[in-house]
Amino acid sequence: MARYRGPVCRLCRREGEKLFLKGKRCFTEKCAIERRAYPPGAHGGGRRRRRQSEYAVQLREKQKVKRIYGIAERQFRNLFARASRLPGMTGENLLVGLESRLDNMVYRMGFAPSRKAARQLIRHRHLRVDGKTVDVASFSVLPGQEISVTPAAAELPVVKEAVEDKKNRDQLSWLGVDYEKMTGRMLERPSRADIPLAVQEQLIVELYSK
Ligand code: SF4
Repeated sequence: MARYRGPVCRLCRREGEKLFLKGKRCFTEKCAIERRAYPPGAHGGGRRRRRQSEYAVQLREKQKVKRIYGIAERQFRNLFARASRLPGMTGENLLVGLESRLDNMVYRMGFAPSRKAARQLIRHRHLRVDGKTVDVASFSVLPGQEISVTPAAAELPVVKEAVEDKKNRDQLSWLGVDYEKMTGRMLERPSRADIPLAVQEQLIVELYSK
């Protein structure tokens, strides 16, 4: 499935909740969910909130997670297949796999205002892992590896602003970030409880197990 290139706020309105896809704006009253908390389209998409089938609920949960992390179906399926081969709970493994992606780590550390912006920085070769440039957003970061922002990127207004914003918010306990050096590490793999994500990953496991 091709990557969605339309207005991202529409995706939040479709899911009926904030997916935090736009960085700073998501925390302001300009957020589309704050202003128009109904599905997109004429007459609220023509959709009265009807009782959904079990399949529809599972599908929506999967779509929501894909949208939050900004990844396509095939990548998502590959991640799921990998998660199901690992010991432990598949749903938790899936979320840890998503959280370990380089684009997500750059966003979580506060070097970019959104995962989308993080992907752009990565594509433009502004990120290094253990000193080597990595331009693949799906790169899976291991605990202990050092992520660093190039000196040129550290001067970009979008990066500076994201860092200032992040300094005002809590850092995740499993991340260590040094804003002086513009570096960060995953200190340890997070458990499900450490991932601030309001999703029911079990529904996705059920969907793919059909
Ligand atoms: Fe979603 Fe952010 Fe747009 Fe609000 S501003 S609707 S949270 S992308």
